[in-house]
Amino acid sequence: MVSETQSPDVIVIGSGIGGLTAAALLQQRGISTLVFEKNPYPGGSCSSFQRNGYRFDAGASVFYGFGENGTSGTLNLHTRIFRKLGVEVRTIPDPVQIHYHLPGDFTVAACYDRHAFLGALADRFPHEAEGITKFYHELDEVYEILSSLPAGSLEDVTHLLSVGASFPLKTVALALKSFRSMGKTARRYIRDEELLHFIDIEAYSWAVQDAVSTPLVNAGICLADRHFGGINYPVGGSGAIPAALCQGIEKFGGTIRYQSEVTEILVDNGVARGVRLADGTEHYARAVISNATIWDTFNRLVTDSRYRVDEKRFLQAPSWFQLFLGVDAAVIPAGFDVHHILVDDWKSYDKLGGTIYFSSPTILDPSLAPPGKHIVHAFVTGEVDQWKQYERGSSAYKSAKEEMAAGIISRTERILPGLSKAVELKVLATPLTHQRYLNRINGTYGPLLKPGQNILQKPQNTTPIKNLFAAGDSTFPGQGVIAVTYSGVSCASYIARRFGKPLDELV
Ligand SMILES: Cc1cc2nc3c(=O)[nH]c(=O)nc-3n(C[C@H](O)[C@H](O)[C@H](O)COP(=O)(O)OP(=O)(O)OC[C@H]3O[C@@H](n4cnc5c(N)ncnc54)[C@H](O)[C@@H]3O)c2cc1C
Repeated sequence: MVSETQSPDVIVIGSGIGGLTAAALLQQRGISTLVFEKNPYPGGSCSSFQRNGYRFDAGASVFYGFGENGTSGTLNLHTRIFRKLGVEVRTIPDPVQIHYHLPGDFTVAACYDRHAFLGALADRFPHEAEGITKFYHELDEVYEILSSLPAGSLEDVTHLLSVGASFPLKTVALALKSFRSMGKTARRYIRDEELLHFIDIEAYSWAVQDAVSTPLVNAGICLADRHFGGINYPVGGSGAIPAALCQGIEKFGGTIRYQSEVTEILVDNGVARGVRLADGTEHYARAVISNATIWDTFNRLVTDSRYRVDEKRFLQAPSWFQLFLGVDAAVIPAGFDVHHILVDDWKSYDKLGGTIYFSSPTILDPSLAPPGKHIVHAFVTGEVDQWKQYERGSSAYKSAKEEMAAGIISRTERILPGLSKAVELKVLATPLTHQRYLNRINGTYGPLLKPGQNILQKPQNTTPIKNLFAAGDSTFPGQGVIAVTYSGVSCASYIARRFGKPLDELV
């Protein structure tokens, strides 16, 4: 363990999954790490919180990366990281990634069984059967490439040369695909407007952008791996993932300090030297990793205005209005899927509040709620601007939240009749809550690519400041627990090689 007087090799700002993954892999390799987290618990958007006997997922609850294939290249990262750390996260197979409920009575479940899923789409759109096969085959090709190429940093020349020499054709194919969009690829094969809307919601469900704005490579992971590695839910809820990473960090001698907000990154002549905490103490290290967003890192924690990042360099994704409900179990019928997406009107699916995301993880893990109860986590996009006129704790703020929640519950009754009467506990969180808990500017979901930008324009792990690195959803490849896990792997790989202790390949 790093003593309070001894400087660690690496300081990590934030215990989101990106920061914790980087810390765990570095610490396991003998590079000492000290993580500062402002909250009293780890995980950020992938944490759990408890209320009245319920254990809610604060954000994520659809999880990739727990497949069991040892030769899976860039995929199944959770399995391979936890294997390396020697810690266990038990999971429950989640048979349906998302059950979609769309305009025009169009419902389809994106289930593990690829054949059944594509068959259901072809039944609805028989005139597009060939296009459906060809489009989803393109996604499988990306999946197959990523299954072969080992995970590492795209900034690490040694890694790139080794991957290029071992897999020349796949490397070239992936480089070419990185310039392609999911939506434009779909339009090569598909003409039907309703089906193209469906492809849009397939992207929007995790990228919060339409398919044309979504890189094909990201789609290849989310929409193909669900049929291979599959979706798996960690026993005990989303917080089991950060808890296991913390266990790994501490097992190898690293330290996580909670309720320790970093207020400044100390930069001296263009070189990061350490951090200052809210209590005024300064801590020094050979390298600093920021797990905060690109805007929070460079426009707040770095005080030198020469490093400012234009707020318009990327699109700033909206934030969320979230309902965490404890409900009478009788309202959820037997056989109900865990995750659902509801769209009432294609014209408004991508407007604020237009799409409802729904999860009920107690269907898989009943231990998250008292006996006879279920959890419902429902959320829609929202913006700080809609809420900033309210004073926190005021009755006006409370009634605005109640009104918004009532509308979402009523729309959700389309798939769960009687939901409004079954609610026994209601915790409501606005974009202001999201901003406050996660220290994210405007409570944003993070930076999104602008139309015309390609995925390689996402920031990698190095920054314009020497010895300051970044991990998390502001870096390549982007949002999602498995994506930020990749960013943590690539960040740790880069730093470890710089420190002369390259990481072994994850197996
Ligand atoms: C509502 C919602 C639903 C989602 N659903 C899914 C899903 O089903 N599947 C999926 O894969 N992904 C999902 N995501 C996305 C996923 O959760 C995130 O992309 C991912 O967890 C972000 O990880 P991160 O490493 O970028 O850090 P974050 O989760 O942002 O964590 C950063 C941490 O750093 C801390 N921090 C920040 N600044 C400081 C500071 N100055 N000092 C100290 N600590 C600091 C914060 O407190 C936080 O703990 C969802 C997200 C949300 C919000």
